Amino acid sequence: MQKNTNRHSKVVIVGTGMVGMSYAYALTTKGSAREIGLIDQNKARAEGEAMDLNHGLPFVKPVDIQAGGYELCKDAQIVVIAAGANQKPGETRLDLTRRNVSIIEKIVPEIMAFNPDPIILMVSNPVDILTYVALKVSGLPPERVISSGTVLDTMRFRYLLSRFYNIDSRNVHGYVIGEHGDSEVMVWSRVNIAGISLMDWCKACSKSIHPHKQEIEDNVRNAAYHVIEKKDATYYAIAMAMNRITEAVFQNQQSVLTVGTLMRGEYGIKDVCLSLPCAVGSGGVGHVFSNPLAENEEKALRNSARILSRSSRCSGRAARLMTLSGSRTVS
Ligand code: NAD
Repeated sequence: MQKNTNRHSKVVIVGTGMVGMSYAYALTTKGSAREIGLIDQNKARAEGEAMDLNHGLPFVKPVDIQAGGYELCKDAQIVVIAAGANQKPGETRLDLTRRNVSIIEKIVPEIMAFNPDPIILMVSNPVDILTYVALKVSGLPPERVISSGTVLDTMRFRYLLSRFYNIDSRNVHGYVIGEHGDSEVMVWSRVNIAGISLMDWCKACSKSIHPHKQEIEDNVRNAAYHVIEKKDATYYAIAMAMNRITEAVFQNQQSVLTVGTLMRGEYGIKDVCLSLPCAVGSGGVGHVFSNPLAENEEKALRNSARILSRSSRCSGRAARLMTLSGSRTVS
């Protein structure tokens, strides 16, 4: 295992909207970073957010929080991109994606001008496509351009299973892989509770999951829509997911998290960013786990990759040529 590199832990957040600032708040209250830089095209907003957070410092571990320009990236280990345009009335998803691709194409060179080797953590949607764009535009090695991927979806899956069995969600292990969106795959074949396979667990407590599987899948896949219907956006849980990824990097934890990363032949999938369980540490993504899946799960993963690759292949610098499938991206 590599050494702990937590001596000087600096995160810069590009995009200080609801997601960016919920994350900054989580970093501050958890003491996960020693320095936080805030960048937004709305400079006054970033400044106001820095002031607001700074006023809480007497109650948390020391942290320097400042707003500014891209020069803040100079000595950052992690640069998080949570900037994004919102859908305008009448705008299609494809138009929004094109706009967000062009935003990322502008932001990434600004970061790279001040820092040649950050870890870029993409959160903006559609996260898999934008991660691919950031990877191509930055020229960074794939292990250093990662996304929050399906970490949030995995949290939702574990939470729902934990509710079903009335067990602490930290003892429920399972993964959601593939696209952060409609084609994501719940890996039922690998679910275990405290090391006991789901099948054995069901037998032991005489409570079968089978009649409820579809409902749980639907709730994981549609969770964001349900939240957005009620409060317009999702930001707390994703902020916790981002904080978890940040801790894994700064403390070189080699934690297994379903971050998004470039596929390099896993399950025969190449040249597309999607999520698989990955060991995350100070260098970004380490080992990518591609252990055997059930036949239907592997098929669904390949389908997810096909959907993403159709979009990503055309997105890079040639965003204008992008053709998207009908898949929705979730928040
Ligand atoms: P928001 O509208 O509250 O904030 C977006 C911020 O980005 C704004 O402050 C805006 O000024 C800034 N911005 C826009 N263009 C910029 C640019 N070129 N440079 C710098 N800043 C720029 O949105 P939000 O709710 O914080 O969501 C942010 C993104 O995160 C969205 O794309 C959303 O879909 C995504 N999201 C992803 C997940 C996930 O699981 N990956 C979950 C929730 C939200």
